Amino acid sequence: MATIFTRIINGEIPCYKVYEDEKYFAFLDINPLKKGHTLVIPKVEDDYIFNLDDETYAGLCLVAKKIAKALKESTKCQRVGVTVMGMEVPHVHIHLVPMDKEKDMLFSNPKLELSADEMKSIAEDIAKRI
Ligand code: 5GP
Repeated sequence: MATIFTRIINGEIPCYKVYEDEKYFAFLDINPLKKGHTLVIPKVEDDYIFNLDDETYAGLCLVAKKIAKALKESTKCQRVGVTVMGMEVPHVHIHLVPMDKEKDMLFSNPKLELSADEMKSIAEDIAKRI
């Protein structure tokens, strides 16, 4: 059965898309730690980042780098934090989180509740800077 993220890629589940190319996809995390919290994923399904073949892994990191630059510019954060966990969704994803202090990266922090309009405008602003 397709992962929830494959269903997002296929447009079966809506998302706030930030980026897409032939092999990779990026969209806003539905439960953001910070405004602009983005997930970057390979289109290929695998549940563990270090199982990816070298080319896919390297490509994923390069796409994450490109998006992180746009994210930093868009949110005016100090830097973009990077986390890989995958404890919830079994489809490789890199979390990119705009941060101004160390505690911004704590996944135990309460998540933001943003309106659909705000999520849409955040995604559009990041996307246009890529
Ligand atoms: P992890 O697997 O790295 O522990 O966490 C998975 C992340 O995916 C969580 O931050 C969660 O909010 C996000 N997530 C789970 N389901 C969806 C979804 O359907 N749409 C979006 N945009 N994000 C999701």
